[in-house]
Amino acid sequence: MGERIEYRDGRWVVPNHPIIPFIEGDGTGPDIWRAARRVFDAVVEQVSRGTRRIDWLEVLAGEKAFKQVGNWLPDATLDAIRTHRVAIKGPLTTPVGGGIRSLNVTLRQVLDLYACIRPVRYFEGVPSPMREPQKLDVVIFRENIEDVYSGIEYRAGSSEADAVIGFLTERFGAKIRPGSAIGIKPMSKFGSQRLVAKAIEYALRAGRRSVTLVHKGNIMKFTEGGFREWGYEIARERFGEKTIPEADAGTGKGDGGRVVMKDRITDAMFAQLVLRPDEYSVIAAPNLNGDLLSDAAAAQVGGLGLAPGGNVGDGYAVFEATHGTAPKYAGQDKVNPGSVILSGAMMFEELGWNDVATAITRGLGGAIRARRVTYDLARLLPGATEVSTSAFAECIIEHV
Ligand code: NAP
Repeated sequence: MGERIEYRDGRWVVPNHPIIPFIEGDGTGPDIWRAARRVFDAVVEQVSRGTRRIDWLEVLAGEKAFKQVGNWLPDATLDAIRTHRVAIKGPLTTPVGGGIRSLNVTLRQVLDLYACIRPVRYFEGVPSPMREPQKLDVVIFRENIEDVYSGIEYRAGSSEADAVIGFLTERFGAKIRPGSAIGIKPMSKFGSQRLVAKAIEYALRAGRRSVTLVHKGNIMKFTEGGFREWGYEIARERFGEKTIPEADAGTGKGDGGRVVMKDRITDAMFAQLVLRPDEYSVIAAPNLNGDLLSDAAAAQVGGLGLAPGGNVGDGYAVFEATHGTAPKYAGQDKVNPGSVILSGAMMFEELGWNDVATAITRGLGGAIRARRVTYDLARLLPGATEVSTSAFAECIIEHV
């Protein structure tokens, strides 16, 4: 029988048979989940020689939940994820029309999943617009609660927007064109520092060389500039022995094996990732910067098709494919399960099962190098053999 994953003193305590809730997802979700689960079970079994096993617990969300229990996001699902702490999900249809809670937003708020983590790396053989795509290997930590995601926005001409404009004009002499729409961008020291701390902890754990704070502090001095200042502060105060600011590392002292803390202005960072990607390793960014950078970086290594993601807080984490449900291919055993499989690898890495994570990534890399791939990659890779979702999973297992 499976046991619960616990979280004590800032660490995961993972039994050999953990219970992990999963949401298979809508559209092509069941196809890719079936393939992913097959890979996870086979790799865990192989790597641990049968000593570890996942006890998967299905929880409902999306169309399946609506059909079975009349609710797109049943409370039982939230309760199960809260109880078992770590979950994985396939893509869900975003229902059109009001009154429906978005699972992602709800989970982010209820479980305080404040870090959206997106690793971006190249797999040999995947077509990329870059000459040396293999030089990009970054893990992006994006703040997930504040900044533009806090959702404080008022429509142009609304009484709320007009009231805010009136207040700012009268109290602070701000110059705002009447009738403007208003968006508010709150960023706190607390929210920024816990995100940067998570990125530094990851860099230390994973043996990564640097953490780069990406901000637009030259223009927005107190929000984006605050992110930079607070980031350096937490590095100094909490990780003083283990980190070194780039300015000091460059003075001939060397980094002494410490994590180098850098910062870059957002626009420059986009250029840097294209021109000198190998100078960056872990990236910590406020919400909007991180959002833009994640997709741009994924495009450099060949697109979003293989991009995994995780939303992580303190003691709770939900991993997911970053693409949607691709409904026109539902039930055809056709689409690429790579994104959800790599999200699983991230999940195992987060839980400390690095051997499983590495083996999954190796298997996926091997399948791509063997050019036995699903239709999306086959149409781009010269000489490739197109295989089904399930056959791709078997090919991954063969290459572990
Ligand atoms: P989408 O489902 O990501 O599909 C767009 C296109 O991307 C597909 O037609 C397909 O391209 C390609 N694609 C997506 N997943 C693929 C896979 N696993 N393997 C190979 N190709 C893949 O985006 P959408 O059509 O805009 O959204 C459909 C539904 O998903 C909507 O209800 C949306 O709200 C929802 N959605 C959910 C999430 C989530 O749950 N995280 C994220 C995004 C969207 P080709 O047609 O070129 O083959």
